Amino acid sequence: MLCARGELFTRKDFSQRLGLTIIAVGFIAATITWAWHMPLATYAILGLSAAIDFTLFFVVGNLLECYNCHAEFRGLEHLGEFQAFNLETHERYRQQSARLREATENPRGP
Ligand SMILES: [Zn+2]
Repeated sequence: MLCARGELFTRKDFSQRLGLTIIAVGFIAATITWAWHMPLATYAILGLSAAIDFTLFFVVGNLLECYNCHAEFRGLEHLGEFQAFNLETHERYRQQSARLREATENPRGP
């Protein structure tokens, strides 16, 4: 058991922020080349940034994340034994931690 406090799920070890940054930078660069009347460069930049994003998504490995404490575990074998992200389980843990937080903030109840 890797985390004593929660179940684990697998997800891509890929930062969504990085993906969005690549797209945004590509879009800004393409806007500039478009304004300079360089359509070929514009298409090349848009195509390239999409290709980088796409490649990154397939090249990066998986990691294990804990529903409860969001700890991330990398470089593990047997990832196939774990389930992918499940919204129901996520919701269960989210409500559980919300109740816990409420109980700590208001020990005597409402
Ligand atoms: Zn945990």
